[in-house]
Amino acid sequence: MTQLIGRCPLCKVSDTIQIARQEINNLMQCRNCGLLYRHPAPAPEDYEKLNNDLDYAWYKEFDLAQFDFTRFKKTNQYFQIQRRLKYVQRYKSSGNLLDVGCGLGFFVQEAAGLGFSATGIDISQKTIKWAQETLHIDVRAGKLEEMNFHAGQFDIVTLWHVLEHMPDPLGTLRYLYRLIKSNGYIFVELPNVAGIDIRVKNFLSRYRLKKHPWCHFSMPEHLYEFNSATFRRLAASAGLQILYWTTLSRSPNPLLTFLYDKTKFGNKMLFVLGK
Ligand SMILES: [Zn+2]
Repeated sequence: MTQLIGRCPLCKVSDTIQIARQEINNLMQCRNCGLLYRHPAPAPEDYEKLNNDLDYAWYKEFDLAQFDFTRFKKTNQYFQIQRRLKYVQRYKSSGNLLDVGCGLGFFVQEAAGLGFSATGIDISQKTIKWAQETLHIDVRAGKLEEMNFHAGQFDIVTLWHVLEHMPDPLGTLRYLYRLIKSNGYIFVELPNVAGIDIRVKNFLSRYRLKKHPWCHFSMPEHLYEFNSATFRRLAASAGLQILYWTTLSRSPNPLLTFLYDKTKFGNKMLFVLGK
């Protein structure tokens, strides 16, 4: 395939190959460490505009002016929140919790309801305004580095499908390392590029058997795609230890989740990181 000039943001080696293309966006793979990343990286103003637009599919179908909480509690999104909280509670049942990229703030709301002192941040002004006015929770609009959080402030930091959207995942993890206590934890959930769904969709895209080839890489929103090996390298580069990891199913089906955990072919990965 076409060779493009690009330097791996993780290992800094210039040996990359283009593996997918959608309009102006290329998905590159580093042949040294295996990281997948979008090239060219977006300009900062484009990145902010993209993330400030309320365009994520699942809540398009909800009327935010008159949010139907009863219906929301029957959705897969609500199930995911409960599953995530169960993982967090294996490690801590109270304390200061920061949810980075909190979106509409539902995870923050549920964590606060369980007794955590929960704060959320998001660069989307629109979602934060909605969360403040509707859920009345502690959420703030802006970038992590602008928040004046202090070293060792948090027991728990969570990033649920957020890190792959951020321009500098390594810088972000290094920053979060300072924000957690010495016995604090960082929870990261993100897509697994080695998951069974993506493998099948790659095959179909390669042979033009898929209606929208490569759209499963969610360009332009996703700037990176990880597998367990590239994520391990990222965490280690930030000085963090992996205390636990698993792969998960997208659906609430407990049998699929169990199978995916055993085979590590699940479509999502969850990592628990510590110092
Ligand atoms: Zn690399």
